[in-house]
Amino acid sequence: MTTLDKRKFYIDGSWVDPIQPNDFKVLNPASEEEIATISLGSPADIDMAVKAARRAFDSFSSISKQERLDLLESILAVYKKRYDEMAEVISLELGAPISMSRNSQAAVGVSHLKGFLKAFEALKPSQQLDSGDTIFREPIGVCGLITPWNWPVNQVPLQVLPALAVGCTTVLKPSELTPLSAMLYAEILHEAGCPEGVFNLVNGDGPVTGATLSRHRDVDMMSFTGSTRAGIAVTKDAADTIKKVTLELGGKSPNILFADADVEKAVKRGVFGCFYNSGQSCNAPTRMLVERSIYTKALEIAKKTGEIQQVGNPAEDGRQIGPVVSALQYERIQKLINAGVAEGATLLVGGPGKPAGFETGYYVKPTIFCDVGNEMRIAQEEIFGPVLAIIPFEDEDEAIQIANDTPYGLAAYIETGDLDKAGRVAAKLRAGQIYINGVECATDSPFGGYKMSGLGREGGLFGLEDFLEIKAVSRY
Ligand code: NAD
Repeated sequence: MTTLDKRKFYIDGSWVDPIQPNDFKVLNPASEEEIATISLGSPADIDMAVKAARRAFDSFSSISKQERLDLLESILAVYKKRYDEMAEVISLELGAPISMSRNSQAAVGVSHLKGFLKAFEALKPSQQLDSGDTIFREPIGVCGLITPWNWPVNQVPLQVLPALAVGCTTVLKPSELTPLSAMLYAEILHEAGCPEGVFNLVNGDGPVTGATLSRHRDVDMMSFTGSTRAGIAVTKDAADTIKKVTLELGGKSPNILFADADVEKAVKRGVFGCFYNSGQSCNAPTRMLVERSIYTKALEIAKKTGEIQQVGNPAEDGRQIGPVVSALQYERIQKLINAGVAEGATLLVGGPGKPAGFETGYYVKPTIFCDVGNEMRIAQEEIFGPVLAIIPFEDEDEAIQIANDTPYGLAAYIETGDLDKAGRVAAKLRAGQIYINGVECATDSPFGGYKMSGLGREGGLFGLEDFLEIKAVSRY
């Protein structure tokens, strides 16, 4: 297979060679074959990109709202034109099954854009207070953006679009594991007429390229999506220059199944929801909390559902799940499956090792543990693979207590036939998004976490506000 040469960075409106080349191989997680070579950016590359973004800021931040709306519309048109290419590249570099890549991974690039267009139209640049003082909302400046690999074209637009909409300029460092979709996104922005220097892309790793961006004096804000570990590093690196930092981090989301739920539907939804994208979603329902009176029935349904979950080649159409993204991720997941066994949880489906017939590629057996104690590592740590932990509870109070007994607070799911109970429990859960009976929040709802799941919100009006400074001007 021919490998692509993708060593260039997108800086100041053109593709440029790295100042200090540092090759990194991008692999197809399904075949373990090399698909492209990128370069990992050096501090000098980051500096060049930040300078371009700084130079572009004055003019870009002063163009009219209509011109920025036109730019977003133009990005939408070009994105739609290159949609199939985007779906294919995500499938190739992430291992997402092609049907899922088309229907979800690439699709969120359109829905977020539409969400931001609507929110931006509604955003008021200024308002008058009762005192007569005026409040202005102004772009914060040059934004450093760092994104993960698990939903690449969910994360990149959720940072790039609100920044551009409000008039900021940007330097993006996408995940080194999925750089190709981000580079295609850069091509789309270029073709859509994004002015020179407004969007820049430097590939690279976390400790050098990412950290240089977080520490850079001329970057005003860091918007970071990824692990809690790296989010802490970004926050510390940004502290010396007092940058605003927004963080979208990990999760260990509870899925509470009350006895009065539609048990069959709720369990199936919970199992498939956990396995979706091979378990690599920050808001995946990874802890299924089941009311004791329906526990045995729920385990029977979970077992049957887990056993029919197909694993397969991402290049083929279908409802299978693909491999996980990398050898490192595969090893982390295996360690946690082994920890679950060692700590005494019962394996209901799957377990350690690769599924039969999948020796090549980073495939993981869809795995379900039951009789899990919430103190176990598989209930406390984000596994980021197709591994579900089922935990019994006695009553509503205990369900809430277990649900909140986690360092994370990104999402929570409630399944019940009693809508008063749904509202009561939702009010007590310490999480940023709550999904009731399988209904997801819309794209204009803010997405983000409580506790160690993050700071700030993405999407819609709240996502725009994160990229704004607030200025008060006295009455005169
Ligand atoms: P990761 O933290 O390893 O990497 C994310 C990004 O941060 C990559 O671009 C990486 O190169 C960079 N990075 C790593 N160390 C860094 C450092 N010290 N300084 C600056 N940048 C650094 O995470 P990942 O494995 O790519 O992604 C999975 C994680 O992302 C999971 O924890 C998942 O829950 C989280 N995530 C959260 C959301 C959300 O919206 N809350 C969305 C998607 C993923």
